[in-house]
Amino acid sequence: ERARLARLRHTPAVTLDGQAIELHANIELPADAVAAVEAGATGVGLFRSEFLFMNREGELPSEEEQFVAYRAAVEAMKGMPVTIRTVDVGADKPLDRMSATELRHEHVLNPAMGLRAIRWSLAEPSMFRQQLRAIYRASAFGKVRLLIPMVAHLSEVRQIIEAQKRVQQQLSEAGHAFGRVELGVMIEIPAAAVMLPLLLRHVDFVSIGTNDLIQYTLAIDRADEAVAHLYDPWHPAVLQLLASSIAQARAAGKSVSVCGEMAGDPAFTDLLLAMGLRSFSMHPSQIPSVKQRVLRADAARLGGLIDSVLASDDPQRSAELAFGSQRTAG
Ligand code: PEP
Ligand code: MG
Repeated sequence: ERARLARLRHTPAVTLDGQAIELHANIELPADAVAAVEAGATGVGLFRSEFLFMNREGELPSEEEQFVAYRAAVEAMKGMPVTIRTVDVGADKPLDRMSATELRHEHVLNPAMGLRAIRWSLAEPSMFRQQLRAIYRASAFGKVRLLIPMVAHLSEVRQIIEAQKRVQQQLSEAGHAFGRVELGVMIEIPAAAVMLPLLLRHVDFVSIGTNDLIQYTLAIDRADEAVAHLYDPWHPAVLQLLASSIAQARAAGKSVSVCGEMAGDPAFTDLLLAMGLRSFSMHPSQIPSVKQRVLRADAARLGGLIDSVLASDDPQRSAELAFGSQRTAG
């Protein structure tokens, strides 16, 4: 089994009907890029940069420290794309030992709905620009994409684009090299999924964070055991948001990926392919088993089955029946 999985590493992820599928890795620290390459990832779809900011003695990482970390990941990926997400702190990923007052993390009523992720970055503009400068500087060493977490407002996208312009100007003036950096937003708040056509006018790509999208769509705290039985990726509302987001991004000619846990769970590979998804990002250890599902899938046939699944009272059962027969037929 191990040897077979190792061989899979060099097998391109292509469906039976010839659709090339991107299998990217989620990483937390630059050293994880090594495991990503070993697992056969063809890029980093999500570098959770907040891990550079967590478990520290008080100081935030400087621009230089961040630059060194981002450059290390970019160099390890050897020309493959590296999608760096700006800090997504708050809620399940608190900053510890930091000056809570200064960072306005004191007495938060409801952290999941509070000043987190891009909201925090925009409230701390000099910290945000430092991070953007570090990301841009790393883009001189490979293909870097910038991903913004928890976007819910067009005004946030406008502020991000303004910050990007300012940072590019600062870097040019300081004589730093940088490449073209594509801008993407996470779709993980239902509002972003609902107004996706508007967001797509301003960004190059989107990445769907199903972990938070499920949490906010169903109002189920993803970390609360008491309601864990209601946290349901198969919920029809979740599936509708996923399917429409993927379809709208594709119709607009923008690249779309899923980087939440669903992307790395082979139980959802057929479903996501049926929705038209062609780019998945997951923990490196999940890449071989998802690739196995991709190699056995007929994407066009799956696509023809999605409407019946979405219309079903019991989408999970309906998907098992429809996709199961697809597999025996294929
Ligand atoms: C998500 O919400 O699905 C996601 C990928 O981001 P995180 O798990 O880091 O919140
Ligand atoms: Mg998230």
